[in-house]
Amino acid sequence: MTVKSLQDLLNEGVEGRHVLVRSDFNVPLNDAREITDAGRINASLPTIKALVEGGARVILMAHLGRPKGEVNEKFSLAPVAEALSEALGQYVALAGDVVGEDAHERANGLNDGDVLLLENVRFDPRETSKDEAERGEFADQLVALAAENGAFVSDGFGVVHRAQASVYDVAKRLPHYAGTLVQKEIDVLKKVVENPERPYVVVLGGAKVSDKLGVIEALAAKADKLIIGGGMCYTFLAAQGINVQKSLLQEEQIDKCKELLATYGDKLVLPVDLIAATEFGADAENKVVELDGIPEGWMSLDVGPKTVEKFAGVLKTAKTVFWNGPMGVFEFEAFSKGTRGVAEAIIEATANGAFSVVGGGDSAAAVRLLGLDEEGFSHISTGGGASLEYLEGKELPGVKVLES
Ligand code: ADP
Ligand code: MG
Repeated sequence: MTVKSLQDLLNEGVEGRHVLVRSDFNVPLNDAREITDAGRINASLPTIKALVEGGARVILMAHLGRPKGEVNEKFSLAPVAEALSEALGQYVALAGDVVGEDAHERANGLNDGDVLLLENVRFDPRETSKDEAERGEFADQLVALAAENGAFVSDGFGVVHRAQASVYDVAKRLPHYAGTLVQKEIDVLKKVVENPERPYVVVLGGAKVSDKLGVIEALAAKADKLIIGGGMCYTFLAAQGINVQKSLLQEEQIDKCKELLATYGDKLVLPVDLIAATEFGADAENKVVELDGIPEGWMSLDVGPKTVEKFAGVLKTAKTVFWNGPMGVFEFEAFSKGTRGVAEAIIEATANGAFSVVGGGDSAAAVRLLGLDEEGFSHISTGGGASLEYLEGKELPGVKVLES
């Protein structure tokens, strides 16, 4: 089945038409609500610019954080509207609501080439409702903003694994097209899924342990080696009888990890040393320890130098690499060496001809925050969950819905 592209829409002509675009502006913010990494905004620009140049009346839909269906100023898209205005070089108005009076007035008032950003779609509980009728009602209200002859462009790759109103139900109600970002992401990941040049090495880390344990099973069958670090690794170490003290641990998953070790043991690559710290903090006292040497009451916040060497050795020979999840708490300098080491090893493998993809909000942010060369990777994906699910071989509802 073919998916129509943004180019198809441009060829049909967008001048004067209202075009609803689902973008991914879910950027990290600091306590002062300043954007700390604008990667996702920048990745969204090509689609928006092309529509503006074509004379469309652009209405952007996006979410930020998890406001849980309630209006909450803390999750307002105001910082995004500002950053977007600057990046586009044109004013982007922010509606005071999602599908309310203000959104309607502003949508009606758009001129050709204007851009309007709706407030956080997750301010409305129907956006993520499991009830299709509820989501449908919300989608109808979103679609009503587009007036007659409207169109929908899906460009929020980070959310295409979710069957949510602004991603999925809107697509069912309007002529729909894949934006350039979604198209690029799928093209790249397809290469990894369909015919990865071997050895194919997957690196998994990060903090969403229970989410990612399921992924391990699916990926272990496909990849040649699976490197496990970050918050992921402690449950595996515990499964081998190691006392991980206060490190991140999913006790109820220990049995699952034992099983995975038994089935895929030769494929799984685990740490051989760790960096232990007295507490979770940038200035915590810390030291390199052997696996069974975490002092009582301490926690491990990074993998150790011997581990980085071991991981780098595996990555060196790789011809395809997919990396999701930092190896440690890279936000604190003292615990960023594991992530840096793995990133550098992937950059080196890439320079030697490997095809490398980084997926995950925090992993991509880590690359930039640590001052590493983004160009050193073949592709940096804007979607963590979405790219993992695609690699697992799952169908992405937000992409599937574009096929018909
Ligand atoms: P991504 O967004 O790339 O998918 P995750 O959201 O799963 O990654 O995880 C990123 C977070 O994992 C980072 O904020 C990092 O500090 C945290 N993390 C990594 N290693 C550890 C660890 N050993 N203990 C606690 N947190 C960790
Ligand atoms: Mg994350």
